[in-house]
Amino acid sequence: MRHESLDAVLDRGDAVLRELDGVRYLTYPAIDELPGIRALTTLRQPGGSPFAAVLDRWDERTDNLTETLRLHRTVGQWLIGACNVDQASFVSGRQIHEDRYVIVGPANAPAPNELCRFDQTDALMTALPRIALVVLTADCVPLFLADAQARAVCCVHAGKVGTRKQIALQVANAFFEKLGVRPQSTRALIGPSIGDGCYAPLPLWRENLEQLRAAGVETIVNPGLCTRCNPDHCYSYRAEKGFTGRMLSAIIIA
Ligand SMILES: [Zn+2]
Repeated sequence: MRHESLDAVLDRGDAVLRELDGVRYLTYPAIDELPGIRALTTLRQPGGSPFAAVLDRWDERTDNLTETLRLHRTVGQWLIGACNVDQASFVSGRQIHEDRYVIVGPANAPAPNELCRFDQTDALMTALPRIALVVLTADCVPLFLADAQARAVCCVHAGKVGTRKQIALQVANAFFEKLGVRPQSTRALIGPSIGDGCYAPLPLWRENLEQLRAAGVETIVNPGLCTRCNPDHCYSYRAEKGFTGRMLSAIIIA
């Protein structure tokens, strides 16, 4: 194993292990200590878990919309509990490993307790409260940006192609320009993903870190949990040769 175990990561204190309704997840003190902002990433779920089944089918295009919505609400209700909010709506993108982002505002936000998915979207940002921004990953980088002063948050899915297209740099710049956020007061966090050296094509951690620095972000936390080196706790697309589940990352202004 090239990278640290989950226990070692937890010992350093950059992530905290929690559990709600049998679903294990990580929270991050660097984000949690910002007033009113919460972020989390779910870990590998037990086999046959309904929660895991929903994540597997998250982006399925199905004719049975009622069933899809029912499944999504299962995760939605869990997120409301895990984020400790009264209510929330949920926004995700149909991720295509590109660099397009969506700003969620009054005109395109879903109603309370509803979910909406934006086509061809790998990054989401908002200054609205009670909108959970969701990305799904298994090796790709879930990237959080948060600014407590401007009360704005952002969630990015940065895979190989998106990273090569500099999604982190572009999204961070948009976060500053469009939502009035200052780079100096922004915190960035690199969630569980495949570590440098465990993925031959690209060191995703280093590349995304450098892009965030180029955008002017000064506070960047990487707990350093490598999905490939921690198969008991994470899903890894590479380690499991494509047959794997998904980890859900979400950030919300409470
Ligand atoms: Zn590793």
